[in-house]
Amino acid sequence: MYFHYYGQLLHQQNMLQDYVRTGSYYAAVIENRIDFHGRIVVDVGAGSGILSLFAAQAGAKHVYAVEASEMVDYARRLVAGNPSLGQHITVIKGKIEEVELPEKADILISEPMGTLLLNERMLESYVIARDRFLSPTGKMFPTIGRIHMAPFSDEYLYVEIANKALFWQQQNYYGVDLTALHGPAFQCYFSQPVVDAFDPRLLVAPPISHTIDFTKVKEEELYEIDIPLNFTASVGTRVHGLACWFDVLFNGSAVQRWLTTAPGAPTTHWYQLRCVLSQPIYVMAGQVITGRLHMVAHSAQSYTMYLTMSAKMWGAGADQGGILQTSSSKLDLKEPYYRMSQPQVYAWSQDQSTQQLVQQQANGIPSQQVDGTILVQQPIQASVILQQQQHQQQASQNFQHQSLFLQSQ
Ligand code: SAH
Repeated sequence: MYFHYYGQLLHQQNMLQDYVRTGSYYAAVIENRIDFHGRIVVDVGAGSGILSLFAAQAGAKHVYAVEASEMVDYARRLVAGNPSLGQHITVIKGKIEEVELPEKADILISEPMGTLLLNERMLESYVIARDRFLSPTGKMFPTIGRIHMAPFSDEYLYVEIANKALFWQQQNYYGVDLTALHGPAFQCYFSQPVVDAFDPRLLVAPPISHTIDFTKVKEEELYEIDIPLNFTASVGTRVHGLACWFDVLFNGSAVQRWLTTAPGAPTTHWYQLRCVLSQPIYVMAGQVITGRLHMVAHSAQSYTMYLTMSAKMWGAGADQGGILQTSSSKLDLKEPYYRMSQPQVYAWSQDQSTQQLVQQQANGIPSQQVDGTILVQQPIQASVILQQQQHQQQASQNFQHQSLFLQSQ
């Protein structure tokens, strides 16, 4: 199933068209020509063969391009179609864990990162490749990876997810009362990590990070990753969960280059990931938020994520040390909610969108949802803050509309 996916050109194209990704690899290789020139390179999971071709452009003596999926046939054609580079490349079909290579590598190149760095569990293959094929003084491109995390506040997202379970509040669905399943459905929607690009202004504390050194980490250390959380809230707000993203470093001899998937940076096909708590917690500015993100690898090439976030409640009981608000959730990194095509709160705060909304208003055209729902817009306010409030209103309109819709069933 996994290799079938990568066997299709459209998925390889999707990665190639992520210019932040591919351009960063290209720059990292070409700027660090010194690490490739005259060297033996192994491309771990070569896909279309693009990184092998970059290594050849940087003067590699020979590149072994190892690919397990059927994409290997296309890689051979691409390599043959670029003969001056291709003469330095051997494409090998098989899993990196199983193939045999005639010599050790001076440098490994790979793109093993999934959503939140860890999804797909290909980092384990990268580490196995290191232990099998890299010479003791060899280099790895990328060299390290970091997972960054910070609490966020996003009322709009929270309401959107909670709304999804409203279906189960129908008391007369073809004569059947569905409400018994509302609770489980509600929990189910919060077990999906949300993948989209969000505005970094939604973060409520400076991020912390967890580093994985690809040159040193043992394969078994990737089976279970435990990250203690400790943040200091910059603002008083309602915290809806933990926002996560990653970056990787190409620690070249000439140039150190980072490829980042951070919010606010140019968007990549990895976007960012948010774990939303079904029970948000309240914080005051300066308050400490503690917790834990515990990730356990599972057999479907991904991770179960156990998130706990806590903050002391202010007000009653504060003088006795405060009552702890704790919220936990269990999520499956394999089953994200891809929200990229959905309206995003930050997009609306851009001037351009304001213009569009204003024009819609002026023309008297109500906006139409994909499901055919007609939303009546509130009067447009110029300021971003008012717009955001408006979006919350719109979200609650959506909510109310859906409730009405359900009641009328
Ligand atoms: N290097 C290419 C493709 C990256 S996607 C590029 O940067 O565009 C990751 C690729 O690794 C996929 O094509 C997948 O089939 C391959 N792959 C994943 N695990 C592998 C393994 N254990 N052995 C060999 N190939 C693997």
